[in-house]
Amino acid sequence: MQVLPIVTWPDPWLSTPCSPVAAPEAEQTGRLAADMLNTMYHAQGRGLAAPQVGVLQRLFVMDVTWKEGTRRPCVCINPEIIARSATTAPGPEGCLSIPGVTVDVPRADWVELAFTGLDGQRRTERLTGFAAICAQHELDHLDGIVTFDRLSPEARAAAEANYTVARP
Ligand code: ZN
Repeated sequence: MQVLPIVTWPDPWLSTPCSPVAAPEAEQTGRLAADMLNTMYHAQGRGLAAPQVGVLQRLFVMDVTWKEGTRRPCVCINPEIIARSATTAPGPEGCLSIPGVTVDVPRADWVELAFTGLDGQRRTERLTGFAAICAQHELDHLDGIVTFDRLSPEARAAAEANYTVARP
């Protein structure tokens, strides 16, 4: 397994919508997912989308419990939100592609996520809490959307100014 370089904003790859994964159960998809999980853990993240490592395909990985001691890696291929709560709440979000900046993004409280696993099987899961937020954040990446795009013009200008300062 490799640690892949993570693309940082404003790299145009982060603003490009991704194409569906043609063969979820293919060996190369499994290898990519394993490298992405390894990269995510190495970068101390809880989610990572393929475009963040320069692959414009609809795949993300997440593990929202590993920092509390239990690794529960999830690979979501060709994910789709098929239902969501009517209400949203803003919460702080970081992004491995926007290091050093946390912004408040409104998200649905729960979502029903349909996705294909590495076994090629389609499944649906109802996600709540941090898992719901994480899935919405990662799915945004597959549509070429970053947290900054979810902000009001004023909040965005302030966040971009912070990023310019915090940027390594
Ligand atoms: Zn992100």
